[in-house]
This record gives sequence, structure tokens and C-alpha cells, in this order.
Amino acid sequence: MEKYLVVGAGFSGATIARLLAEGGNNVTVLDKRDVVGGNAYDCLDKNGILIQPYGPHIFHTNDQSVFDFVSRFSEWEKYEHKVLAKVRKDKFVPVPFNLNSLFSLFPSKAEQIKEILVKEIGYGKKVPILQLKQHEKAEIRAFADFVYKNIFYIYTMKQWGFKPEQLGVEVMNRVPVYLSDDDRYFTDTYQFMPKGGFTELITNMLRHPKIQIKLKTDVKKEILLHDGKIYYGGREFDGTLIYTGCVDELFDYKFGVLPYRSLKFKFKTLNQPSYQPSAVVNYTTSHKYTRITEFTKFTCKEQEQTVIVKEYPTRFKKGKNIPYYPIPIEKNFAHYSKYVDEAKNYKNLYLLGRLANYKYINMDVAVKNAMSLYEQLTGDEID
Ligand code: FAD
Ligand code: UDP
Repeated sequence: MEKYLVVGAGFSGATIARLLAEGGNNVTVLDKRDVVGGNAYDCLDKNGILIQPYGPHIFHTNDQSVFDFVSRFSEWEKYEHKVLAKVRKDKFVPVPFNLNSLFSLFPSKAEQIKEILVKEIGYGKKVPILQLKQHEKAEIRAFADFVYKNIFYIYTMKQWGFKPEQLGVEVMNRVPVYLSDDDRYFTDTYQFMPKGGFTELITNMLRHPKIQIKLKTDVKKEILLHDGKIYYGGREFDGTLIYTGCVDELFDYKFGVLPYRSLKFKFKTLNQPSYQPSAVVNYTTSHKYTRITEFTKFTCKEQEQTVIVKEYPTRFKKGKNIPYYPIPIEKNFAHYSKYVDEAKNYKNLYLLGRLANYKYINMDVAVKNAMSLYEQLTGDEID
């Protein structure tokens, strides 16, 4: 029976802890926060409305094995996410930018542009904006330039402090132009919200006799890494450490602080049943915030009040705010790889999750990566 120490009680930590516990291992999960769930944490506000203090989270995946695993810990509420971009005063168009967005913005020219797009690229195709901007047809390039300017450029500058082309292609690929009439934000096979919320789902995942949870515990106060050896509670630890926090923090920033993007959230309760036309409205041409989320639209329940949150992207400052997003640019990956090389000196240390792997991943990928790590550690295959 192996001993495992898992740092972080988000999707990554909870998934690996659960799988290891079911495999008969003793697992201790530590988190510095006083709640489980990581950034997917949600809770009821003073009016009983389910809010997500670390930003809007919607579960979506095409991966059957991930969906089956997560479904063991929650019932689901069918929810298909829709996002509108406010491109100018009183003009809301669907994002990802699609044929409905085109018709809404250019009623007189849309038919002609659609015809060219469909002929050249094909109905139903998804094309990342940077690719569309390079198209050989001038009409398509002109269309792409418009979309780039009105949907991507300003939002991306606000969100990252970089232009779309300065970031790894995976960022723009998340929200390609969609040559379709489908207004959904995601087209994954499975898209749901957990009936009782994400915190309840992760609490259920962690509820196992072989899992011990220690909250309000900062790993840096409990664990020491020195000369290839891990010390826990003052003694050499001969089990396995799985770490889902920031890797630069784990190694005392010996190669410098890794760049992250942080967010500031401003919540407001309003005495009205509805605030905006969709759960999320992106501000793609104006304002300092990137988007407004209206949480009551996730549950679609009738209520008298509503809660909105505005998201203001900001620079990450170590110790001052939360590192939400790794910034996917080449030089940051090179910086990160120094820490990966350092981690290789510790045979019983594994890095996992959005922060420790320095990867812009969704919840389903966090679960999938934890499943893969389980298979790697134990040699067991998850069926
Ligand atoms: P986290 O959730 O960040 O968990 C890491 C945990 O480790 C935290 O609880 C932290 O407190 C703990 N920790 C860190 N350092 C230490 C330490 N030194 N000591 C002790 N504990 C420590 N994904 C989707 O699929 N759909 C969405 O709609 C979606 N929306 C998002 C919106 C926003 C604003 C953000 C930021 C992310 C969104 N994501 C979404 C991504 C999702 O949040 C991540 O994929 C997921 O949370 C990753 O889980 P994780 O366990 O790897 O990391
Ligand atoms: N994006 C944009 N305009 C939009 C929506 C997205 O420019 O209306 C870009 C932006 O750079 C953003 C990225 O696409 O960071 C990914 O969007 P997503 O909605 O996946 O971001 P997340 O929900 O992960 O913050």
C-alpha cells in the first residue's frame, strides 16, 4: 500500500486522489484554501443564488471516459452555454462568430459573404481567426479582418496584454469562426452543469475512507524539497508527492517568477430577475472588463434577484493575487521547462494540473490528465 500526498483539491488533485484511493492507497490531500474545488469552487450567496467566486465554469467534453468518471459524483442539469459579444451599443452578436453574427451585423451584404465562405471553406467548418486572416481570397480576408478587429483584438489585449498573434495558437483556436447557424459556445457531445454545483461534485469525489483532507494548509509550510529528497512534517517522505500548485513556488522561485494572468472580479446583486440577454456577454470593443456573467442564467430558475460579475484581467503579482492563467507564449514555456528539469531530480514528485503543468486546460482535460497519471503510476488501466 503506497502513501500519496496530493497538493491541491481542484479537479486535478481530486481526480488523482479518488483514483488512488479506489486503488487501495492512502492519500492525503492538502490545500491552502479553506474549501475544496480549486477554481471551479462555487457556493450560495446571501440570497441563495449559486455563484462561482473564481469565475464562470461550464462543464463540457467530448471524452466519454471523463464524462463517465465525473458523472459518478454528481447528477447533471442540461445546459448549453451561449455567449454574446457586445460589439457596439445595443448590438449583441453570437460568439463564436458565426453566420447569425454575420447576418446580424451586415444584413444587406451577409448573403454574398456567406456564399463565398461556404463555397471556399464549407458549411459547418470551424476556422481559427488567424488562419482566416491568411485566406487567399481577398473578400474572405476582409471579412476576417473585421471579425479580428471587432471580436478578438481588443478582448485579447485586455485578457492577456498581448495581441492574438503573439500568443500560442491554442488560445485563438478555442473560439474559431464557425460557419454555421449554431449559436452554442461549445459543440461538445456532453455539456452540463452539476446539479448541486462543482463544490458538491468535488466534495463527493474526495469523500472516501482512504482520503484524508487537510485544508488551510500551505504546502510550503509542510514540505521541503532538498537534494532530491522530499521532507514532509520534518521527516523524509518515502511516498509519492503529486503537486498541482505553481511549480515556481514549489522551488522557491529559484529560476524566477513564472508569468501568469490574474483576474479581479466585481460582483453585484441586482433587484431584478434578469440583467442581460445571455449568461455571458463579452465586451469585445469597449470597457476595461472582458465579460459579464449572470449566474442565475446557468440554472434557469425563476428568481426575483440576479447576480452579475464583471471580469477585469490584471497582472499577476506574487503573493498579492491569484495566478489564474499561464500565459501561453514560447518564452514562458522555456522558462517553465527549467522548473520541469529541476523537478526531474525528485523521483517521487509528479506535476499535474493547470498551474503545475503550466497549461491552459479545461476541467475535462484536468480530469483526463489525472487519469493518465494514475495509469502511469499504477500500471492499471482505467476502463
Ligand atoms: P486549480 O483549480 O487551480 O486547483 C489548484 C489547487 O491547488 C487550488 O485549490 C489551490 O488552492 C491549491 N494550491 C496551489 N498552491 C498550493 C500550495 N502551495 N499549497 C496548498 N495548496 C495549493 N474549464 C472548463 O472546463 N470550463 C469552463 O467554463 C472554465 N472556465 C474557467 C474560467 C476561469 C476564469 C478560469 C480561470 C478557468 C476556467 N476553466 C474552465 C479552467 C478550470 O478552472 C481548470 O481547468 C481547472 O480548475 C484546473 O484544475 P486544477 O486542479 O488543475 O487547478
Ligand atoms: N476571445 C476573444 N473574444 C471573444 C472570446 C474569446 O478575443 O469574444 C479570445 C481571448 O483571447 C480569450 C480566448 O479567445 O482569452 C479564449 O476564450 P475562452 O472563452 O475560451 O476564454 P476563457 O473562458 O478560458 O477565459
